[in-house]
Amino acid sequence: MSLLKVEGLSKAFGGIHANEDISFEIGQGEILGIIGPNGAGKSTLFDLITGYTRPDRGSIRFDGQNIFGLKPDRVSRLGIGRTFQKLKPFTDLTLLENVMIGAFAHEPDIRHARDKALEIIDFVDLIEKRHHFARELSTGQRKRLELARAMATEPRLLLMDEVTGGVDQKTIPGLVALIRKMKDAGVTIATIEHNINIIMEISDHILALDQGQRIAFGKPEDIQNDQRVIDAYLGTVDVA
Ligand code: ADP
Ligand code: MG
Repeated sequence: MSLLKVEGLSKAFGGIHANEDISFEIGQGEILGIIGPNGAGKSTLFDLITGYTRPDRGSIRFDGQNIFGLKPDRVSRLGIGRTFQKLKPFTDLTLLENVMIGAFAHEPDIRHARDKALEIIDFVDLIEKRHHFARELSTGQRKRLELARAMATEPRLLLMDEVTGGVDQKTIPGLVALIRKMKDAGVTIATIEHNINIIMEISDHILALDQGQRIAFGKPEDIQNDQRVIDAYLGTVDVA
């Protein structure tokens, strides 16, 4: 059964068609990998789904419910979490405090929110850093902070925007392992990712965008051999 079903989703900024007639679905418990060159419309797609940007047209159904045009707090409360491409932790708060902010979405009681935040910080393997300020954390650790903050909102679907982007190579396997661990914990995932090896490895299905258009949607083995994907994307990146 599909948890998220997007049909004909479109958004233009002036003359730029950031998303044009985008359709895809994500099955319950799956990982959808989203690829495409810079400016393809990947982050915009997340903004449309989560209510940060209002779509021009199309339909978005989450667990059968129409969520088109809902505001971010409504979408979050319905169970869609996200992380941002540009990290924005509260740098002068501790890791624990940052994650508690996520936990307050569902848990107004401060002690319960604290307990839940600690549980999730342990889940992302940062428990020993809980009292460190966010500004003291490495980029890889801040990515984990973002994932923890998003997990604290108890999402059924988590949208991740370039989780492995901008971190040094040696921290990538740990982040990939964490994405798998989240899937194993029952979270359905959509992940925007530039590293094609990671995408091929973890995705159940892949959505490829280019210049606001869907150029392919299918299983990794089909995407790998899709000429439009090869032309638009694989030809332009270093395939390690
Ligand atoms: P990606 O995440 O794939 O790199 P984006 O979704 O960020 O791409 O951007 C897609 C296109 O939409 C780009 O041309 C970008 O400049 C444009 N765009 C995105 N957000 C806005 C906005 N808020 N206002 C104007 N143009 C935007
Ligand atoms: Mg982006």
